[in-house]
Amino acid sequence: MIEPQGGIQGIGMTSKRTRDRLVQRLREQGIRSEDVLNQIRNVPRHLFVDEALASRAYEDTALPIGLGQTISQPYVVARMTEALLDGFEGETVLEIGTGCGYQTAVLAPLVKKIYTVERIPELLRKTRQRLRDLDIYNVQFRPGDGWEGWRKYGPYDAIIVAAAASEIPEKLLQQLAPDGRMIIPVGPPGRQDLAMVIKKNDHCEQVSLEPVSFVPLVKGK
Ligand code: SAH
Repeated sequence: MIEPQGGIQGIGMTSKRTRDRLVQRLREQGIRSEDVLNQIRNVPRHLFVDEALASRAYEDTALPIGLGQTISQPYVVARMTEALLDGFEGETVLEIGTGCGYQTAVLAPLVKKIYTVERIPELLRKTRQRLRDLDIYNVQFRPGDGWEGWRKYGPYDAIIVAAAASEIPEKLLQQLAPDGRMIIPVGPPGRQDLAMVIKKNDHCEQVSLEPVSFVPLVKGK
C-alpha cells in the first residue's frame, strides 16, 4: 500500500516546507516581526485541530475545533501578537478566549507570563493538557467570563482578546496597567474591527488596525 501524504508526524502537509510556505505568505501580507514569524513556523498547529483537519492546519484559515468554536486564522494571530509586542517592555499578559490555545502557544515564549480565561471548561481542560505536552509552563488558566477579566493578578501589562466584544469591556480597561495596551476585536458579527487601545493616565487612545471576523465574546455564563 502507498502511504498517503499528510501524516501528522511532520511529513507531507505538516512538513517544514508547508510551514515555510505559510510563513512566506504572512510575510507577503505584511507581518514583519521575526519573533512572531518564527513562532508561527515552530508551533505545531496541526496538534490544535482534530486529526481529520490536520492536513489543513498550515493553510491560512480559521478551522472548527468543536463546541461551536474555531481556531483563529494564522494571519490574525500573527497580526495581533505583533501589535501586542510592538515596543512591549512588560511581563504579564491577560488573554481572553483561550479556545484551543494556539494564540497562547504562539505568544507564550515571547512574554514572561500569560493569564488566560475561557468560558467553556471542557475546552480549557484539553488545552491545559495540550500546552503541557508542548512544554509550555508560563500560562495560568481560568474557566470564567472574560467580560470580568481576572482581577487577582492584575493590572496586566497587556491584554489580548480572541472573541469579538460589542464594546470595550470596562473591567478589562480597569485591569490594564498605565501605558498598557489591549488588542481586541470590537463590533457586531460581520462588521468587526481589530482595535488597539492604549491606556494613558486620564484617557485611552484607540487605533483601528483592520476589519476582522471573530466568534462573539459571550456575555455571562
Ligand atoms: N485563541 C483561540 C481562538 C479562540 S475562539 C485560538 O488561538 O485559536 C474564541 C474563544 O473565546 C472560544 O473558545 C470561546 O469559547 C471563548 N469565549 C467566548 N466568550 C467568552 C467569554 N465571555 N469569556 C471567556 N471566553 C469566551
